[in-house]
Amino acid sequence: MAETAKILAPQKKVLLPDMNAGCSLADSCKAEDFKKFIDENPGRTIISYVNTTAEIKALSDIICTSSNAVQIVESLPTDEKLIFAPDRNLGNYVLNKTGRDMIIWNGTCHVHEEFSLEGIVKLKDKYPDAKIIVHPECEMPIRLVADFIGSTSSLLSFTKNDNAIIYIVATEPGIIHQMKKSNPDKMYLPVPPKDSTCGCSECSFMKLITLEKIYNCLKNESPEINLDNEIIANAGKPIRRMMEISKKLGL
Ligand code: SF4
Repeated sequence: MAETAKILAPQKKVLLPDMNAGCSLADSCKAEDFKKFIDENPGRTIISYVNTTAEIKALSDIICTSSNAVQIVESLPTDEKLIFAPDRNLGNYVLNKTGRDMIIWNGTCHVHEEFSLEGIVKLKDKYPDAKIIVHPECEMPIRLVADFIGSTSSLLSFTKNDNAIIYIVATEPGIIHQMKKSNPDKMYLPVPPKDSTCGCSECSFMKLITLEKIYNCLKNESPEINLDNEIIANAGKPIRRMMEISKKLGL
């Protein structure tokens, strides 16, 4: 995200409180390997999810988010052959929705890959009226039991506007804080990870950003994101293309 901000506003200073606060999904798609994958599958339009490095964006034709991935794909001619990267679960979700000719990179997010179906069943057993809300980065068995699938912002809006009072939430549990702020009278149950001995339903990267690090970062104006000019130019094109399509579609 910090790199995307720098790509879109290269003249501005972009700070990141901890340079190790990356993303396992972005790490699962290295530029060198992805370039090889593209060369092995020529003639395809490359759609990459926003959770990628600047180098992957620079190799892509269009960027998408979990909110607009389906619409971005549907906006392309039906006979266009596609590559989708890096999340195999989101790619599989988009493929099922659109039925397009799409090859999917085999990447995952350590959080969304870890939700336990058994954990959902246990919660549903205890709270039969609860609605199951799921991020499309989750594996297919989790998506299949969902009452609603959507991006983090869509899940938040859904809980605001829906009339249920209990939700089983399958996404990074940090969003539950926002849900509670919007609707404090409702109950939000985070889905546990498959391995109940670890806390892997929380994003270990996001959790690296602490209030103290934000304070120090603002005080020292460091660490700063710096990117190569060529990468900024090439990565900016697919992001702007997404923004143009989104604007045209009224998203
Ligand atoms: S939850 Fe963490 S690892 Fe997963 S996509 Fe988001 S930032 Fe990346």
